[in-house]
Amino acid sequence: MYTSFDQTTLDKIVTLLKSGQPEFLSGEKLSKTLGLSRAAVWKNIKKLKSIGYKIESKQNAGYKLHPNTNLLFPWEISDGLQTGIIGGKIYYFDVIDSTQNFALELSQKPHENGSVVIAERQTQGRGRLNRKWVSPKGGIWLSILLRPNFEPSYTSLFPMLTSLALSVAIEKTLKIKTGLKWPNDVTINGDKVAGILIDASIESNKIDYLVIGVGINFKIKPDKITSQIKTGQKKYGIATLVKQGKTGNPVKLVQQFLLELELHYNNVISGSTGNIRKEWMKRSLTIGKSVTITTTSGTIKGKAVGIDKTGALLLSSRGKVQRVLAGDISYKK
Ligand code: ADP
Repeated sequence: MYTSFDQTTLDKIVTLLKSGQPEFLSGEKLSKTLGLSRAAVWKNIKKLKSIGYKIESKQNAGYKLHPNTNLLFPWEISDGLQTGIIGGKIYYFDVIDSTQNFALELSQKPHENGSVVIAERQTQGRGRLNRKWVSPKGGIWLSILLRPNFEPSYTSLFPMLTSLALSVAIEKTLKIKTGLKWPNDVTINGDKVAGILIDASIESNKIDYLVIGVGINFKIKPDKITSQIKTGQKKYGIATLVKQGKTGNPVKLVQQFLLELELHYNNVISGSTGNIRKEWMKRSLTIGKSVTITTTSGTIKGKAVGIDKTGALLLSSRGKVQRVLAGDISYKK
């Protein structure tokens, strides 16, 4: 595990190499600044290369970092992150069972607020209703712990505002247009590219914590995911944001997403939720469609006509409009 707050030698070397860009930084300078032997510097450079950094070494010149290293290490995400609360602490794992579970454990520590947990790979990623969320390398799997001080009913807005924040961040950083599917999916041409999961603990009419889980198929072959999903669970297609052979910067996407999320979060805190709904509706592929929703208490059919203040879907059928709080929705693309 690496974190954004326990600075390691690796992280210090990356910072120094960045400050030296585009010049080479001599091994001597690195060893003096860090108080390490030249051999120790060399060992750390080797380690950085092994975890994915592209570093050029040249005799008599030193080391130079390739400028477009797109790695999700916590010090990379922190570097240039413009948020106030979210991402104050970042925990990074090469592999973890589930970032959501780790964030739920963190929630037991009262001072943890805004902390982000991110992993390259999850072995037991989960979706809603404990469904499997396939999380191979190449994706962005993260969870955010928040302790909002507002009315618990606002919790139901979070699947919506999180998917909206992600859709806007994808558009701003990767120039890709995505659609939103109620309650919480982000899609490209109707295929799911990201999913969202909210775990909340509410005690005596007060939110104790919210854990927002986000899974983004950043650069993964969709087959890798499809092959892991049981046929009965395949509700619709799976997409990736960046195709094989193309490049995109996952760090910029995560930074922008955390910023957009915090913006909405602050709006909810100050009670102004109207814009969230308006923006979500603009990007929604659900509104206006004839849909079928499977809920825990049965199946409902109707036309999706809007979203109410709490994020519930408004469904019109046989001249009546009803609110649907949660469920699995299906409709023609
Ligand atoms: P929903 O998509 O209805 O919100 P969940 O949030 O519960 O459902 O997500 C779990 C479902 O998503 C799984 O049953 C599977 O069909 C699908 N799935 C699992 N992993 C991925 C992935 N990496 N990308 C897209 N869809 C996935």
